[in-house]
Amino acid sequence: MYSKIAPTDIISAELIFKDYVDFEENVIYLTDEVPDYIAKFLDDIMPDYVIIIYEMFNPVCPYCGAKLHKHEIKKWDINKQTTVYKQRYKCTNSTCSKTITTPLSKIVEKNCCYTKEIRKIGNELEDLEHISYEKKSELIEKQYGIKIPRQTVQYHEFIKSEQYLSQKEEKIAQLIQERNIEFSGIIGYDESFFSINNEKYVRITSIDSKNHMILNDQIMKYEDFDKYFIEIFMTYSLKDLTPYSNPDMPNPKHSLLLTDLKKDTMITDGYTTYVPIIEKLHMTHQKCVFHKIMNQRTPVWKTTNKLERQLKNKENQLEKTKEKIQQLEKQSKGQKPGRIPLKDKKRRKNKKKLKKKKQEKTQQKKDIKKIEKQLEEFEYYNNKISEIFNYDTVQKAEMEFNRLYNQLDFLPEEVAKFVKNLKKDFDKTINHIKRKDIPKTNNLLEGFFKITFPKKYKRRFRTEKGVKNYLRHMTIRWYERNVLHEKITT
Ligand SMILES: [Zn+2]
Repeated sequence: MYSKIAPTDIISAELIFKDYVDFEENVIYLTDEVPDYIAKFLDDIMPDYVIIIYEMFNPVCPYCGAKLHKHEIKKWDINKQTTVYKQRYKCTNSTCSKTITTPLSKIVEKNCCYTKEIRKIGNELEDLEHISYEKKSELIEKQYGIKIPRQTVQYHEFIKSEQYLSQKEEKIAQLIQERNIEFSGIIGYDESFFSINNEKYVRITSIDSKNHMILNDQIMKYEDFDKYFIEIFMTYSLKDLTPYSNPDMPNPKHSLLLTDLKKDTMITDGYTTYVPIIEKLHMTHQKCVFHKIMNQRTPVWKTTNKLERQLKNKENQLEKTKEKIQQLEKQSKGQKPGRIPLKDKKRRKNKKKLKKKKQEKTQQKKDIKKIEKQLEEFEYYNNKISEIFNYDTVQKAEMEFNRLYNQLDFLPEEVAKFVKNLKKDFDKTINHIKRKDIPKTNNLLEGFFKITFPKKYKRRFRTEKGVKNYLRHMTIRWYERNVLHEKITT
């Protein structure tokens, strides 16, 4: 999209010049096929007295088919920047005798002062990054040397966005069909939160874990979001919604009217609401192991952080005690060993102090050992718990889990609580061991959320429409990069 005039362009342009460009004294004739960047190029390199006239390649009346005669020329500024002229014609058929201006439909839409290319930029940039109209306007000025007011950039983007997006979405759907990319039935589900004008919203998404296609992706006000909605959403995610891919089109009245997609496994985090819904859908439920482990680690971290602070304090105290002992020993250096005379009060006091400090040292060392042992123990169990999910057979995983479960009374409180809880849904966390095609975590969807709706945008939008548009751009990009591995052009 940038810097259109490459050396190869000029050479190829030279070849076609014979047919499409005609040099006469003080005038260059271009046929309506010639792109506007050539007009700009010629305008830039030619002296001022040379004018450029666009004329029809085949001057035939569009109304009656008769030949056209050249009539007059009409001034036109491409992008309010490059002055060219459009040839006007008169129909030779006397009963028709219409006046026709060279239409430049490839370059520009009727009654527009900016070219199609310029009008497309806002939406094209939006595919890459959500930036302000102000900045888009600056970028156009830098790249094309055209100063367009922010409001105009916004207007161009607004009127073109639906067409721009739906064309790409249609192309994506078409490519998916052509390549026969099928749903695997192994689906990641999650929610993510953001706000519009300080009002809390939720984005609810399901993704195919194998081919990374998005099954369903919606936004709604947080206050309207509940477990009933989750059930509806999950149910619809398993239906073919391609006829309803336009996000503004409501879903059909009853899910039974839709074609089923492949139904196999649902991956979620540990929220208990999902359990009965997924059971009702007769699907395998895989609870994200990453979330599980985080649930285990969080209370442990709280304790170990505390222990680490205590350890540091104890170590500092020990250091001070050691210094003090050294100091006291230095003071009593060179003194005769043996009993200290009763009247030497200073020496007696020092000796007592030294004894006390040495006792303190022993105690502090003991305390440090104890804390270190506790920390080691936590680390040991953290590793044990992670390992459970890494075994290659269910048998080994179960054995390790049972070994922990049987020692409940001897485990640190935080670990025991987790192990006890894990018993309830242990089978839902090891499906990835049973079947290699089931992912261990919901990381794919977490990644999708992070890429398509980064944190920095989560409070920036002012309207639902704005968020929806933005997400459509980002979803197209996701498909380009993660599903089709091909840039979509329209
Ligand atoms: Zn005519």
